Amino acid sequence: MADIIQLLPDHVANQIAAGEVVQRPASVVKELLENAIDAGASQIKLIIKDAGKTLVQVIDNGKGMSTTDARLSFERHATSKIKTADDLFKLNTKGFRGEALASIAAIAHVELKTKLEEDNLGNTIVIEGSQVASQDIVVTPKGTSISVKNLFFNIPARRNFLKSDTVELRHIIDEFHRVALAHPDIGFALYNNGSETFNLPITNYRQRIVNIFGNKTNEKLVPVEEVTEVLEISGFVCKPEFAKKTRGEQFFFVNNRFIKSAYLNHAVVSAFDGLLKTGTHPSYFLNLTVDPQSIDINIHPTKTEVKFDDEHTLYALLRSAVKHSLGQFNIAPVLDFDHDANLDMPYKYDAKRAGSPNIEVDRSFNPFQEETNSRARAVAYKKEPVTTWESLYVGLESKGTSTPSDFSEVRFESEPETSSMFKNVQDIESARTTYQLHNKYIVSTIKSGMLVIDQHRAHQRILYEDFLKNMTVKEGISQQLLFPLKLPFSANEIEVICQLQDDLQHTGFVFSSHAEDTLEVTGVPVSVPESEVSIILEQLISDVENEVPDSNFSATDLLAKSMAKSLAIKTGQVLQKEEQEHLVNKLFACKEPNTSPTNRTTFVTMSVDELDKKFI
Ligand code: ADP
Ligand code: MG
Repeated sequence: MADIIQLLPDHVANQIAAGEVVQRPASVVKELLENAIDAGASQIKLIIKDAGKTLVQVIDNGKGMSTTDARLSFERHATSKIKTADDLFKLNTKGFRGEALASIAAIAHVELKTKLEEDNLGNTIVIEGSQVASQDIVVTPKGTSISVKNLFFNIPARRNFLKSDTVELRHIIDEFHRVALAHPDIGFALYNNGSETFNLPITNYRQRIVNIFGNKTNEKLVPVEEVTEVLEISGFVCKPEFAKKTRGEQFFFVNNRFIKSAYLNHAVVSAFDGLLKTGTHPSYFLNLTVDPQSIDINIHPTKTEVKFDDEHTLYALLRSAVKHSLGQFNIAPVLDFDHDANLDMPYKYDAKRAGSPNIEVDRSFNPFQEETNSRARAVAYKKEPVTTWESLYVGLESKGTSTPSDFSEVRFESEPETSSMFKNVQDIESARTTYQLHNKYIVSTIKSGMLVIDQHRAHQRILYEDFLKNMTVKEGISQQLLFPLKLPFSANEIEVICQLQDDLQHTGFVFSSHAEDTLEVTGVPVSVPESEVSIILEQLISDVENEVPDSNFSATDLLAKSMAKSLAIKTGQVLQKEEQEHLVNKLFACKEPNTSPTNRTTFVTMSVDELDKKFI
């Protein structure tokens, strides 16, 4: 029989290899960003069109390539990063297989522009489906720009397999976050369909996290540092009270490379033992530095898994480092995270010197001592259960019978000190029911003592339950706008709105049409002022984008939460008596009045007994 084995032509081999390297546009993003980092760039720009299906472009100011290297870079197994098999065991670069560019060029239209610092002119090469279409001299800045267009143009089955733009973009942004988090010393920018989505200046690690995940992240971070002979750990974990329902923000980097490791995740989670509400996941951003010789990153083609020589030691070290940090920084729970200090500081205090803050550190906490300690702390951490709200009101007599002076002895800072607190008896009477403190809290009397309600959170709860109800029974009332609102949004943002359109309509929103970059709104829910529409929708889009669309993701719930957050009366807003009373009544008519939709306490109570104790 004749010989039948033959070598596959290069372009076929490349297409097969491409299947391993390039699963979706986000894989291209990862490879190109990593190449730019390996090239020593300090500024990297990522440009995306149509979730990467039309264009992924990365521009860097790294070292660039010579004419020969530019051409060679698209050959399979062409790499400048390793020379011998030994090099594999001391890798300091992201890439080493020399496969990425060859694979990408096999399944897309690629345009490369590159220039070495010392050269006056650079090179440009256009490759389509592994074939060089042109090669020229160009004027281009130092560094490299690679555009990858029409991904999978020659493999329709793969192209059809891609998910919606929202999902593919989500993957791209995840990849971008991972790379940007691993390299705070490099500036990154991301442009999506022509608009700037991220601009991350060179900074430190903490600030990079905050720049990506928002200002509110800062106060949530607890530093973790540990240096041992085998391992260096640095980074942050989030305080337990900010643990999330989704696993969104969990990042391990080993030698600056993002990895997934269920084993190490377990180490971190177990350090939180007893501190987390069930069903929540702690966020973390942890960098591990180990000797490159002690790991093998070669075991997975997309290189997000690592094999460690001594996993058990890493596990123990990581767990104890995180435990230790949580113990050290177990600052007494902060009462209000939304709190804006400017709002309630009387300005006569402005010039006063601030006293030094009191931080409670649990010095006796020993992370190495097993369980008993953390159990005890877990108990201390749990908030006292609030008695059910119904019992608060039972037996609360109406006017006249209880002591009319419940509040007459209390000094509220916002009142002028000279005149007596209440001008007439009527005021005393109404003050007995509700009182607004610092334009932030509603104080009311209850049978056992007093009740203090956070107006912003309480209103969020009320609106949240209202919206949820409207969406489920589909009965939101809409007010028609005289002139339709034309709101400018990006195509991506409009796509997010379209996906939520049904639910939005049930709350009362009516959309007439949407062009590529404008959304036309003709009706809004009765509770929504016209001027707020754009802010609400923007908030909604950003909430959707920040939520990882996994199994816990419920669009309806997210929408209700987001709208409640945008529309709830804010801290600082003066409320009339009737409004205060209405708020109290509506809150306690809710199904779950005790917490805001984001699980924060809406009210606290203080019994007369507790007050009495304070006067002993
Ligand atoms: P690998 O990164 O595994 O070496 P790639 O196919 O990603 O393989 O890249 C091949 C080679 O092309 C790299 O080794 C590098 O020399 C060169 N190269 C790729 N991208 C860049 C870039 N942005 N700047 C400079 N050189 C690059
Ligand atoms: Mg590479």
